[in-house]
Amino acid sequence: MKAFTYQRADSVRQAAAAAIKSGAKIIAGGTNLLDLMKLQVETPSQLIDINRLPLDKIEETPEGGLRIGTLVRNSDLATDPRVRQRYGVLSRALLAGASAQLRNKATTGGNLLQRTRCYYYYDVTKPCNKRSPRSGCAALAGFNRIHAILGTSDDCIATHPSDMAVAMRALDAKVETVNREGEAKAIPIAEFYRLPGNTPEIETSLKPGEIITAVTLPPPPPGVQVYRKVRDRASYAFALVSVAAIVDNTRGQIRSARLAFGGLAHMPWRVAQAEQRLVDAPANTTTFNAAADAVLEGARGFGANDFKMPLARRTLHSVLAEMTRT
Ligand code: SF4
Repeated sequence: MKAFTYQRADSVRQAAAAAIKSGAKIIAGGTNLLDLMKLQVETPSQLIDINRLPLDKIEETPEGGLRIGTLVRNSDLATDPRVRQRYGVLSRALLAGASAQLRNKATTGGNLLQRTRCYYYYDVTKPCNKRSPRSGCAALAGFNRIHAILGTSDDCIATHPSDMAVAMRALDAKVETVNREGEAKAIPIAEFYRLPGNTPEIETSLKPGEIITAVTLPPPPPGVQVYRKVRDRASYAFALVSVAAIVDNTRGQIRSARLAFGGLAHMPWRVAQAEQRLVDAPANTTTFNAAADAVLEGARGFGANDFKMPLARRTLHSVLAEMTRT
């Protein structure tokens, strides 16, 4: 492992000022970063530890939502009674991710910023535009079973691995940040993640030195909340397809719906047209298929991941049928 220096941050502004320097990396739980360092995928010259900053609280907002500090551990967030009662989709998504030990260490901000699990990204002997810009993409003609079918580019077909972010996308969360000048921003999660395009190494709208301080959730929308994750084994596996759904339904008639998908794209995937096809529609196969058609518009497989198209359709159908059963 390459040698690095270690600094403990005393304030958010100090952390932001240090993080803007070339080669510097913020560390909190370290559950992804340390793995990447061991494999030489990440080779920071300086680590800035933010674990002692006072960013580990879950607080009520005046609007009736929750503000989740960036250092709140995934296990604490999943088991918070307010999250379990009002944001069940988020609690279930968190508990579907990683293992209990990892959830005890992993933080809210770190979960949002975790890197893809594309095999080739982790193998420094293979070309990867995300790890090494303009070196090529080994996944395009390689083993791409876990890769994206939506929003891909000729330069990268990786998926985002977070379950938590998918639930937060359905909940219209906002990502709060502070820069080294102390300026605060709240970025809607819909604008936080980027598609790969020809710069897959840039994954979010965060500017250099901008630090995530919290995630805010608006008051919960009406309806039942479900998180369904389809994966190769029952635990400690990333989603092949996941669905975060919030559906308000009265006697078989859908009033409102929110759908976000994981495992399909470089970012949590949400399609307004798919949700509109459910509103004021009867809960039946025709309606569910119309929503799935909208979700999968423009989908493209790369061989080994072609199965994700029918799998996404069937998963959505199953989730909606379960949620609207009378
Ligand atoms: Fe790299 Fe993206 Fe290609 Fe994977 S899919 S090898 S992360 S460029």
